[in-house]
Amino acid sequence: MDFGLTPELLDLKAQYREWVHGTLDPLCEPMEEEERLPDALVEELRHGKLRFFGLTIPKEYGGEGWAAGKWLPVLEEIARGYAMCRMIAHTMNGLFWRPLYDHGTEEQRRKYLPKLATGEIWAANALTEPEGGTGRDINATTTKDGEYYILSGHKWLITQFPEYTKLFYCFAATEEGMTCFLVDAPDEGLVLEPMKRMMGCRGPRHYNVYYRDLRVHESQILGEKGRGLDIALGMLHLSRVSIAYCGVGTAQRMLDLAVAYAKKRMTFGKLLSTRQAIQSNVAQMATEIEATRLLAAKAAWKFDQGLDMVVDASMAKMFSEQMTMRVAEMALRMHGGVGFTEAYPLERHFRDCRSFHFEEGTEEIQKLLIARSLLK
Ligand SMILES: Cc1cc2nc3c(=O)[nH]c(=O)nc-3n(C[C@H](O)[C@H](O)[C@H](O)COP(=O)(O)OP(=O)(O)OC[C@H]3O[C@@H](n4cnc5c(N)ncnc54)[C@H](O)[C@@H]3O)c2cc1C
Repeated sequence: MDFGLTPELLDLKAQYREWVHGTLDPLCEPMEEEERLPDALVEELRHGKLRFFGLTIPKEYGGEGWAAGKWLPVLEEIARGYAMCRMIAHTMNGLFWRPLYDHGTEEQRRKYLPKLATGEIWAANALTEPEGGTGRDINATTTKDGEYYILSGHKWLITQFPEYTKLFYCFAATEEGMTCFLVDAPDEGLVLEPMKRMMGCRGPRHYNVYYRDLRVHESQILGEKGRGLDIALGMLHLSRVSIAYCGVGTAQRMLDLAVAYAKKRMTFGKLLSTRQAIQSNVAQMATEIEATRLLAAKAAWKFDQGLDMVVDASMAKMFSEQMTMRVAEMALRMHGGVGFTEAYPLERHFRDCRSFHFEEGTEEIQKLLIARSLLK
């Protein structure tokens, strides 16, 4: 494994960083207050100076075909910016095309992948339920009607964008076990209701998704009937590494903000940055961020080599979410009371980074996976 990034990748990272700070961030303003995706932002994501969609989708389906080792350091730069943008980047490049590619028929791949690659359609994953754990015990059911399945169930906390999300991965039980259905939106049987506003990652709300007699043709089943859990959980491995990198990008941004603040804030006649206690915080934050970056890079490298990286992915994801919270706490303390106000962007990053705990499985679930592998 090579620890250095190539000059080409360093240049790419610099370009994306500039784009995120200079172009995307100013367009995101209405998301925080008005909870909507501005048209200009969507236009920039789809047709902007730098490509945002399809970066990892194979070239034969219209993407760039970037390996994890190229894509994830770029995602780190995107994660320095507005949380909802990094969420779109993470899900659309890291999560939603892969199950189609791995399990879909050629017809299904041709139907969706080129459109996902341009951002013409966006996708969503409707898995989490209010009445069951996020896995084997889901309650959504199906009945059979000729060539159709009729789905019933209730999902919640679903990230989706009403005007743009046109493909839903829907999970429900068939006779064979949990099965994954590809559902085109809108559909009168797919009822979407916004939930209450979230603590962070603001923008369009997250949704309750009801399957109300949702009719799906059997040709829209993804993979084998009864193997939906493998699809749902399988898509999470690399995705956990993606969240780990998002944590690194967000934490690096908070560190940069804290350093900039310490270099200009005077107390008792001296700059904060000259105080040893503050310097100790900075060293601690930087070291934790770098440790997480390396853990995530190793998992990404193993993925690109075709090696088993399930445990590495869980370790990287778990450590990243813990690290991000610690860095957020230290960065807030360094800002003093003003960091607790909306006058400084740290307040938003502090709230946003709480979501890493829930995305792609909580810390408790990562620990279960790691321990299960060690103790088997
Ligand atoms: C910003 C955001 C976006 C999201 N987007 C989506 C989405 O697009 N699609 C989607 O399907 N879901 C989405 N979710 C939901 C997310 O995947 C879940 O919140 C997460 O998987 C945890 O599941 P839960 O909320 O049902 O918690 P629960 O399963 O109710 O767990 C509650 C607590 O108990 C712990 N726990 C649960 N089971 C065990 C166990 N066996 N042993 C030990 N501890 C356990 C959990 O770790 C957690 O701390 C999103 C959530 C957030 C916050």
